[in-house]
Amino acid sequence: MQVNGSKVLVTGGGSGMGREFTLRLAGAGADVAFCDLNDQGIEETIAAGVGLPGKVIGFKANVAVEAEVVKLIGDAWDALGGLNVLVNNAGIFRDGLLVKKNKETGAVDRLSLAKWQQVIDVDLTGPFLATREFAAKLIENDQRPGVVISISSISRHGNQDQTNYSAAKAGLIADTKLWSQELARYGIRTGAIAPGFIDTPILQGMRPEVLAGVLKGVPLGRAGTPEEIFLAVKFIIECDYFTGRCLDVDGGLIL
Ligand code: NAP
Repeated sequence: MQVNGSKVLVTGGGSGMGREFTLRLAGAGADVAFCDLNDQGIEETIAAGVGLPGKVIGFKANVAVEAEVVKLIGDAWDALGGLNVLVNNAGIFRDGLLVKKNKETGAVDRLSLAKWQQVIDVDLTGPFLATREFAAKLIENDQRPGVVISISSISRHGNQDQTNYSAAKAGLIADTKLWSQELARYGIRTGAIAPGFIDTPILQGMRPEVLAGVLKGVPLGRAGTPEEIFLAVKFIIECDYFTGRCLDVDGGLIL
């Protein structure tokens, strides 16, 4: 599939990588709808998209809420006159050890069910809902080809402090594989991308000394850029023989 002329929906397009994907895709001639929760982020992405070759249209929607995702897919479809590509990008993390013994009191803190559920809702249920609705819409309208790209993470291998996030991001890889098998008959390909540490607002929120320590372990010695992850998005859209697999774009880091 060519990027130029495609119709794309990006979730979480109001910040970081989602904004980068939205603007670069529109810059390459795709019409792009994106959603986010953050009003300011939505306005900034729309403003940055003015004058690009492709349209940039923003919607406020929570990917974790079924009714909002159903409406989003319908609204994006109507606004762009169809859809070919879905980028499941919106994601959060709420880190914490599974259990932690307080050395002074002896009390054992537990990772709360709320933290577990928040991350599963956004990072796993969100892509499930969006992919289901995207695929259903394409099939109902007999529109093909389609591509579903899901942004996983290097944490999919299991990263300390991230019981919830690691489970969600690993689940996305499994679903990417099985969706490739279930959806190929409808002309829909899938692909996942597992970034390492990428320079976005999420990373900028880390303490500098913690970040420096983490980056020491990266063979290429630095964080990646959103543009470098966009190259993987572009590859998955353009390579018609790619489906069901995950691209690791992590500077060679092994967790
Ligand atoms: P980011 O800058 O925080 O952007 C994520 C965007 O998603 C934010 O605008 C956020 O809005 C939005 N969002 C959060 N929850 C949402 C929901 N329920 N519905 C709709 N939008 C929602 O993060 P990023 O670094 O670009 O990350 C993008 C993706 O890459 C995520 O899936 C993340 O897990 C993954 N990833 C990031 C890294 C990294 O190092 N940056 C590495 C590996 C994987 P708010 O601002 O309102 O929360």
